Amino acid sequence: MLTVTGTPVVPGLAHGPVLLVRTEISAAAVAAFEAAPALDPEDALAAYDQAASLVAEGFEKRAAEGSGAAAEVLTASAGLARDKGLRGAVRKQLRAGTSLLPAVHAAIEQFASVFEQMGGLMAERVTDLRDIERRVTARLVGESEPGVPVPDVPSVLVAEDLAPADTAGLDPRLVVALVTEKGGPTSHTAIIARQLGLPCIVGAQGAQDLAAGVRVLVDGASGVVEVEPDADHAAKRVADDKAVRAEVESWTGPGHTADGEPVKLLANVADGESSARSAEAPVQGVGLFRTELSFLNRTEEPSVEEQAQIYADVLRPFAGRGHVVVRTLDAGSDKPIAFATHEGEENPALGVRGLRLAFDNPGLLERQLDGIARAAEETGVETWVMAPMVATVAEAAGFAERVRERGLKAGVMVEVPSAALLAHRMLEVVDFLSIGTNDLTQYAMAADRMATDLAHLTDPWQPAVLQLIAITAHAGAEAGKPVGVCGEAAADPLLACALVGMGVTSLSMAAAAVKPVGAQIGHVTRAQCEEAAEAALAATDPGEARDAVRRIVLA
Ligand code: PEP
Ligand code: MG
Repeated sequence: MLTVTGTPVVPGLAHGPVLLVRTEISAAAVAAFEAAPALDPEDALAAYDQAASLVAEGFEKRAAEGSGAAAEVLTASAGLARDKGLRGAVRKQLRAGTSLLPAVHAAIEQFASVFEQMGGLMAERVTDLRDIERRVTARLVGESEPGVPVPDVPSVLVAEDLAPADTAGLDPRLVVALVTEKGGPTSHTAIIARQLGLPCIVGAQGAQDLAAGVRVLVDGASGVVEVEPDADHAAKRVADDKAVRAEVESWTGPGHTADGEPVKLLANVADGESSARSAEAPVQGVGLFRTELSFLNRTEEPSVEEQAQIYADVLRPFAGRGHVVVRTLDAGSDKPIAFATHEGEENPALGVRGLRLAFDNPGLLERQLDGIARAAEETGVETWVMAPMVATVAEAAGFAERVRERGLKAGVMVEVPSAALLAHRMLEVVDFLSIGTNDLTQYAMAADRMATDLAHLTDPWQPAVLQLIAITAHAGAEAGKPVGVCGEAAADPLLACALVGMGVTSLSMAAAAVKPVGAQIGHVTRAQCEEAAEAALAATDPGEARDAVRRIVLA
C-alpha cells in the first residue's frame, strides 16, 4: 500500500478524502492585472491600502468568531496586514518606480528576510507574511482570498504549510486531520492541531502529490498516512481510536502508573487567563509559567508592583491545588522583549538570553524576584522559581541564593547540554531541575527549533537528547530531588512513559495534552516504563525509538 510519512505531532486516527489547500492565485488574473495600464504611485498605494485593510478585516472577523490561541494568531495577522512599516516599504518601492504587485512582493520579501534573520518565533511569522501577500494580491487582481476551502464532507487537509489564518478558522467537524509537507513540531499548524485535538502530521514529504479526493487514513501517533486503505480496516482502526479517545476524555487524575507510582502532571501557562483555564484540567499545579509571554508587547519594564499583580493572577487559580513553578524572564532569541533583549546579536540563540540577561543587568532579575515573592506572599500559593538557559553550576548557585533569600524554592532549567552533563553538581546547589526539551534538543542537535527543514533533528526522540534527559533524571533520583520535564516532549504520551522510566518525577504540558498523557501512563507499570526508557535509549534513531516504545507500552 502507498504511504506518506512525516513527523507525528498530534496522535489520533482519521479517515477521509484529501482536501488540498489552494495557495496559488490564478495566473490569468495576475496577467490581466499586469497588462492593464499601470497606476501612478499614489493611486497604487491607495489600492494597496484598500486591499490590505480588507485582508485585515477578514482576519479580525474570524478572530471575533474564534477564541483562545486561534483568535490571538488571527489578531496578530491582522496587525501585520496593517503594519505601517510594511506599508512604508511598499510606498518606497512604488515611489522608486516599481509597479504594484512587484512592489508588494519586494516589501514582503524585505520583511521576511529580517524575520528570518531574527530566527525563532519571528522566523515562524514568515509563513504569515507570505499568506498576507497572497491575500493582498488576490484582492488586488479581483480574486477571492486563497486558503482553506470549506469542505462538503469531513476531510483531511493537506497543504505545503498552513498559515495561522488557515488553521485558526478550522471547523473540527469538517476537518478531521492535518497533514503538511513543511513545518516542525512547534509550528503554528502543530499548535492549533493540538488545541483542536486534530490528528496531525508535519514534514510529510510528498503529501501534496496526493490527488484531491483520494481517501487516506492518517495516524497522528506514528506519522503514517495510508493511501486508499481497505475501507473495513480503516473503519475499524478509526472506531478503536474513538474508544481510546473516549477513555482519555474521562481520565480525571491524579497521574500515576498502573501499579500506583505517582507522576505529577502539571500545566504550562502564559498568563492569568491560561492559568485559570488550566486549573480546570486534572493537574496538580503549574510546572512552567513562561513570564516573558506577559511582556511581549511592553516597551518598558513593568514596576515590581505591577509584576506582582500579573504573577498573582497566575498563582491564584492554584491556591490549595498545588505548587506553581515560575520561570524568570526568558527574553532574547525567539522571544524578543523590548526592555530586556540585547539588540544586534549575530546569533541570538547562543547569545544573551534567559538568565544571561542578569549578567550585566542584575536589577532586572532582582526586581522580578521581588515581584514573584510579593505575589507568593499575597496568594499563599507554594511558589518555586527557576531560571532558563543556565549553563554553569556557578550560575545556578548564584540564582538559587537570590531566590532563597526571598524564602522561595529554587531550581534551574536544563536546556543547555552542559547543565544536563553536570546535573548532579547542579543539584548540590538547587532544590529541583526542570528539563526544557525544546531548547535542550535545539542545543544538543545544533538545529534551530523553528527550522522547518530540520524537523528530523529537532526531535526529542533523538538518542543524544534522550541520553541527556536520562543523565539528568538519574542525578535527580540519586540526590532525592525532583526532576521534571516541561518541554513539548512531556506532552507526547509515548515519550512520557519513557521519561517516567528514566526517573523523571513530573511532566508539565499544555493543559490540552494532560488527559492523553495521564491516561497512557495509567495503562503501564513502572517496570514497563523502565523497559520503554531502556529501549528508547538503545535505539539508533527517533523512528526506531518510537517503534520500540510503542511495542512495549501499547502491548
Ligand atoms: C524548553 O526549552 O523546552 C522550554 C520549556 O522553554 P521554551 O519553550 O519557553 O523555550
Ligand atoms: Mg526554552
